[in-house]
Amino acid sequence: MKALNKKKIYLSSPHMSDEGYEMQYIQEAFDTNWIAPLGKNVTEFENELSAMLGVKSAAALSSGTAAIHMALKAAGVGAGDIVFCSSLTFAATANPIIYQNAIPVFIDSDHKTWNMDPQALEKAFEKYTPKAVIVVHLYGLAADMDKIVELCKKHNVALIEDAAESLGTLYKGKHTGTFGDYGIFSFNGNKIITTSGGGMLVSDNEERIAKVRFWSTQSRDPARHYQHSELGYNYRMSNIVAGIGRGQLKVLQKRVEKKRYIYQYYKRELENLDGVRMMPINEWNEPNCWLSCITLSGKVRPLDIMEALEAENIESRPIWKPMHMQPFYEQYDFIGDGVSDKIFENGVCLPSDTKMTDEDLDRVIEIIKGLWV
Ligand SMILES: *Cc1c(COP(=O)(O)O)cnc(C)c1O
Repeated sequence: MKALNKKKIYLSSPHMSDEGYEMQYIQEAFDTNWIAPLGKNVTEFENELSAMLGVKSAAALSSGTAAIHMALKAAGVGAGDIVFCSSLTFAATANPIIYQNAIPVFIDSDHKTWNMDPQALEKAFEKYTPKAVIVVHLYGLAADMDKIVELCKKHNVALIEDAAESLGTLYKGKHTGTFGDYGIFSFNGNKIITTSGGGMLVSDNEERIAKVRFWSTQSRDPARHYQHSELGYNYRMSNIVAGIGRGQLKVLQKRVEKKRYIYQYYKRELENLDGVRMMPINEWNEPNCWLSCITLSGKVRPLDIMEALEAENIESRPIWKPMHMQPFYEQYDFIGDGVSDKIFENGVCLPSDTKMTDEDLDRVIEIIKGLWV
């Protein structure tokens, strides 16, 4: 029986600012009847995010998935091209490779980072000549960027960072999403900040970003009539949605601090339990801790934790199932020794909602500890 009378604790739910910043920007859009299509909020959201990250330009889009799609297109990925992609991720990272009729090759994780293993990447380069590499910063943990950037430079291959989960994460003091040729962010409902749905593509290549804005608004050539020389998409963010984004950006740092607090709270309370390991934070990593995840090597299994929490009206979930294990992607090559398989089998994402109180955290911890007695 589910204890539905008990207060629900979410994995990661939308958290608007206490100050009501989001509504102020939306109100301004209403007052000026700038509901759609583009408008000031879109332009300012792009400017504010690029300034914060330290990149030259950004294109606000309808989703993180659309941003990955446009990054691949901007990088010149087309039919038959090979794209290397982190295997341990959400399917939205890989699906746009198929939209472009390209061929994914999945790369295993490094147990030290949970992200793309540079050694597996190096092996993949011995076997294939890809057109692009998509590296994911999972759960807000930065990948081993020095080595990955170096390998991509050496092979002269475009690097796309899927930073959908890592807005606010620093790698050696610099924002994730700004190391590659392109970086993408998501503002989906469960992300560290949300616009209800949306995404951003960032790059120092202003010409490519201008091109993405063109493709994303149906590729209308500059003519009075409707003239199209290229395939178009309807991928732009609306001015209302961008208003939410501008408001959320103001509280991003607060959300990062709370997510880190949650991680440290779990670490202090759970790390001493037999077989429990927190997700790895390396010395060069200042993660946003989007989700606090653990792996288990003892007799308590991930499902035990998920079921015990569910019975108390608390959300948790498994680690992403690697792409090379997905029925849809099984036919594609995978380079690695199955590190990501093990993280998937032994891992669990704990509730990491920024609205959680210490009492909520204690409730979660007590239930988990109860499985060890
Ligand atoms: C959420 C997410 C995406 C997709 O973003 P949407 O805005 O939902 O399209 C892509 N990659 C990763 C790793 C994600 O977590």
